Amino acid sequence: MLDLAISAPKPKTIAGATGDWEIVIGLEVHAQVATRAKLFSAASTAFGAEPNANVSFVDAGMPGMLPVINEGCIEQAVRTGLGLRAQINLVSAFDRKNYFYPDLPSGYQISQLFHPIVGEGEVMVEIAPGVARRVRIARIHLEQDAGKSIHDMDPAMSFVDLNRAGVALMEIVSHPDIRGPEEAAAYVARLRQIMRYLGTCDGNMQNGNLRADVNVSVCRPGQYEKWQADGDFAHLGTRCEIKNMNSLRFIQAAIEYEARRQIALLEDGGTVDQETRLFDPDKGETRSMRSKEEAHDYRYCPDPDLLPLEIGQDWVDAIAAALPELPDARKVRYMNDFGLSDYDASVLTAEKENADYFEQVARGRDGKQAANWVINELFGRMKKDGGADITTCPVSPAQLGAIIDLIGAGTISGRIAKELFEIVYTEGGDPAAIVETRGMTQVTDEGAIERAVEEVIAQNPAQVEKAKANPKLAGWFVGQVMKATGGKASPAAVNAIVAQKLGL
Ligand code: ADP
Ligand code: MG
Repeated sequence: MLDLAISAPKPKTIAGATGDWEIVIGLEVHAQVATRAKLFSAASTAFGAEPNANVSFVDAGMPGMLPVINEGCIEQAVRTGLGLRAQINLVSAFDRKNYFYPDLPSGYQISQLFHPIVGEGEVMVEIAPGVARRVRIARIHLEQDAGKSIHDMDPAMSFVDLNRAGVALMEIVSHPDIRGPEEAAAYVARLRQIMRYLGTCDGNMQNGNLRADVNVSVCRPGQYEKWQADGDFAHLGTRCEIKNMNSLRFIQAAIEYEARRQIALLEDGGTVDQETRLFDPDKGETRSMRSKEEAHDYRYCPDPDLLPLEIGQDWVDAIAAALPELPDARKVRYMNDFGLSDYDASVLTAEKENADYFEQVARGRDGKQAANWVINELFGRMKKDGGADITTCPVSPAQLGAIIDLIGAGTISGRIAKELFEIVYTEGGDPAAIVETRGMTQVTDEGAIERAVEEVIAQNPAQVEKAKANPKLAGWFVGQVMKATGGKASPAAVNAIVAQKLGL
């Protein structure tokens, strides 16, 4: 747990022509379960395969084929539930959600409507240091993904790719606890972060690995608190659902647009129809897709091919005991053990790969110095490279650690270390060997430094007079000597010798 005083952020208000409005948001996040095989078949889940290369008879909905549950998917859903401090249901069941779609060959999707595997949970979504929104999770259920229709390969025909059909998804449903566009994006980012730490979802939004249906309504100030008090949804506005959002930026833009659309409608004396809408990123608008369907439209029924799913408390306990360290715990550990600031610890733990990298650099070294190098030099340099990610970064933790060790040993100065870092980043190689072969070693030879200092003093008599009157100006001499020695002189030695020669 975060050892911080947490206060709730203010809800976002929008000023309308007839007074203020507030936004209410609930999210249904579809997260692809990280497993090698699908939910009910042994076909591969690998991304980017040839169309229809990963399709079993079960996935293709062939008659007489029976689903066989993949234990790995159940384990991942339980792990995710535990990571979100949620109730794990030892008995759950699968239902058929019936609808026709060309990319759904069996004519129904297997899902969990009545008895989901995971119940109530919660996520703390940090908006600023010490400011967090508690978002309650209503449930997480397992379900199958559908295939993909392809309309742009032939002018007259559509094709279907069933590689994704039957892949396991976790649908994570939140309560309508989210109160603004930034919070909604931060919530999705937080879920993604936790699941990546858990190893239960890759969270690659571009590949459709993580997508969200965003429910938005607006109400007058005070209404939300009434709903909180008695749970009556009549206090809140009618919601619209924006389907299939796969970018944090679009989620924010869509909510912003949708809230303003609903406010304009209401202020005009109209009503909001409960419907499903799509966001058009080019126009920045949402538009109606269909009126909202109700659960009974889908003729949900228990799937007769699958027995209720029973899991043991022992098994759940074993998964809980083996849960990896989660981002909050890591952040607190970095603050306590390495003395890092809240901000630096957040930056380093935002992505698990970055945190793992940092820890390798920090092991056996000064944590603060390691953090500075990773955040300022490494991340800064990667940003210049167009935000390259750490897993393909050209400088390994061992190489960066070696650079830091060379500073610590007094072999190179901080300035030379930055040059060395650039060489290692662009050309690779062993930092110690580079220092050796390129003569980058720091000059600690007092005689050589003394000569350089004397030379600068001799050439700048006016500057000497000024420094004698104002010792702060001695820094100028240090700078000159560093320049004359190509940054290789030991700064400590130069400082001492300059002060001595100037008689300060
Ligand atoms: P359905 O089964 O019709 O999709 P749910 O009760 O599962 O309905 O809710 C779907 C999502 O809509 C949930 O994430 C929930 O938090 C959200 N939601 C419910 N009411 C509102 C509202 N008035 N405003 C915004 N979101 C809402
Ligand atoms: Mg829904």
